[in-house]
Amino acid sequence: MSRRDELAAGLAETEQRIAAACAAAGRDRDDICLVVVTKTYPASDVVLLAELGVTDVGENRHPEAQLKLDEVGSLGLVDGIEPPRMHFLGGLQTNKAGAVARYADVVHSVDRVKLVNSLSRGAVAAERTLECLIQVDFDATDPGRAGAVPADIPELAVAIAGAAGLTVGGLMTVAPLADDPAPHFEHLVNLSEELQREHPGASIVSAGMSGDFEAAIAAGATHLRIGRSILGERPSTG
Ligand SMILES: *Cc1c(COP(=O)(O)O)cnc(C)c1O
Repeated sequence: MSRRDELAAGLAETEQRIAAACAAAGRDRDDICLVVVTKTYPASDVVLLAELGVTDVGENRHPEAQLKLDEVGSLGLVDGIEPPRMHFLGGLQTNKAGAVARYADVVHSVDRVKLVNSLSRGAVAAERTLECLIQVDFDATDPGRAGAVPADIPELAVAIAGAAGLTVGGLMTVAPLADDPAPHFEHLVNLSEELQREHPGASIVSAGMSGDFEAAIAAGATHLRIGRSILGERPSTG
């Protein structure tokens, strides 16, 4: 089987699961954005995915993300196919945020005000607008995890809204590993409704990965971040 066939099969199978979960939840597939997480996979996979109709890809590390985008540019896409939008999903250091702002379209992992300032400077320097999601963490048992506590959302949203080159896109979470993800996804959707009262454009709810996206669709997620189900198991944990 060619890599293109493998990816097409992974996409088709995942789309079937998405369709079934949408049907069960009474939701429209068109209201959900599939972000295919290509971390650790080569740029040639990104090219094939774009040619198979994927419009959004996700990466979690700088500079891997930037190098891959550059390589996609030099490999070249078939005429009429747009380069996919780049979603940055990973933990961000302040000193790399400016670089990420130059190529990412959406950053899912904003969890402190310091990052907002660095992303803003990068976006302004590159004359771009960057959609920022606030990463929320519900795992009180592990203080080392990325993400802001729910109480910090309003302050972060105000900082993003006031920063040049940035817009408040919404919220993101990674469900705690050991738990049933459903209550966490429902909590995120409730927090999103609160956020949208102050920031009406902030409608993105980024939740759901290969292992739990059905629960995210049931809860009301708008953006799924799916890697392994489509691309296969990653050689290393990325
Ligand atoms: C890797 C990653 C994903 C995708 O995970 P899969 O299990 O491969 O679907 C989603 N979100 C984040 C933040 C990730 O780092």
